[in-house]
Amino acid sequence: MKIALVGIGKIAIDQHVPAIAASPDWELTATVSRKGAVEGVEAFDDFAAFLAARPGVPVVSLCLPPVPRFEYAEAALLAGRHVMLEKPPGATLAEVHALQALAASKGLTLYTTWHSRMAHAVAAAKAWLADKRILKAHITWREDVRKWHPGQDWVFEPGGMGVFDPGINALSILTEILPAPVHLTAASLEFPSNRQTPIGAKLTFSGHVTADFDWRQTGPQTWDIEVDTDQGPMALRMGGNVLEIGGKVAGGENTIMGEYPALYKRMAELVAQGASEVDLAPMVHVADALTLGRRIETEAFDF
Ligand code: NAP
Repeated sequence: MKIALVGIGKIAIDQHVPAIAASPDWELTATVSRKGAVEGVEAFDDFAAFLAARPGVPVVSLCLPPVPRFEYAEAALLAGRHVMLEKPPGATLAEVHALQALAASKGLTLYTTWHSRMAHAVAAAKAWLADKRILKAHITWREDVRKWHPGQDWVFEPGGMGVFDPGINALSILTEILPAPVHLTAASLEFPSNRQTPIGAKLTFSGHVTADFDWRQTGPQTWDIEVDTDQGPMALRMGGNVLEIGGKVAGGENTIMGEYPALYKRMAELVAQGASEVDLAPMVHVADALTLGRRIETEAFDF
């Protein structure tokens, strides 16, 4: 199936282009980006021009930051194209509900992807937890914003979500693996004095679940979810790619390269089935943290 990639930036080049190239399901037939392009692929710098010129491309995958994404998604659905959204699926919950309704009314596929849910050990962790009683859980998601988002000022602008841009990946795993849902009860958010979004966040949920997100960690990065159950401890490490049960490695593989191929395989299935997959649970927690969170001002941040 022909597919167009929109927003040729860091994640498009790092993950989407190689995943599509390796897929038996997809052919990258066009890109749309104001500056970016992919060698050997027809490049448009205007989305309306692409939609008018290439009515035979049934699927678009949007790799833009969340704030500009809605207008592109809405235009694509109105033009009869199936749409795949990078995470987080939008800048607000309501705009994604609007896209969901539009896709349904036109019989089109809308897929809100959560790449971390495709990490190697997430399905195994979910299966192991299914019949356990959760006593407590803690997420530690600490990384270096300068390494993963070099110069990307949009992450600190309204709608960029700050440290929740990576933190929502942890929440996408949490909401997938817990046998029963939890809800946020308190948050403290550290905002750099010169920025609009938090660089650090501490979250408390019902069910003795807590989270620590930080974007100032240099050196080794930490992406862990540790869960205590009535039948002993379980941990997901390396962003959901390695499973530990009772303190011993019990599955997974320490590489992220399987996540995007799995997303494109799922999109092919959804289009073939005429189905959509829209799950906003991770983003509800972020919205709640930004609603309930206590604001702490911290030192200015510059890339
Ligand atoms: P990025 O490189 O800053 O942006 C992607 C591209 O979007 C840019 O190259 C730009 O292309 C286009 N763009 C940016 N602002 C725009 C605007 N206002 N209007 C229209 N186009 C605009 O961002 P990214 O790191 O790839 O992240 C994009 C999405 O992927 C985010 O939602 C992020 O959470 C998600 N993601 C990122 C990573 C990562 O490691 N960075 C990992 C997983 C998921 P042109 O200037 O050429 O138009």
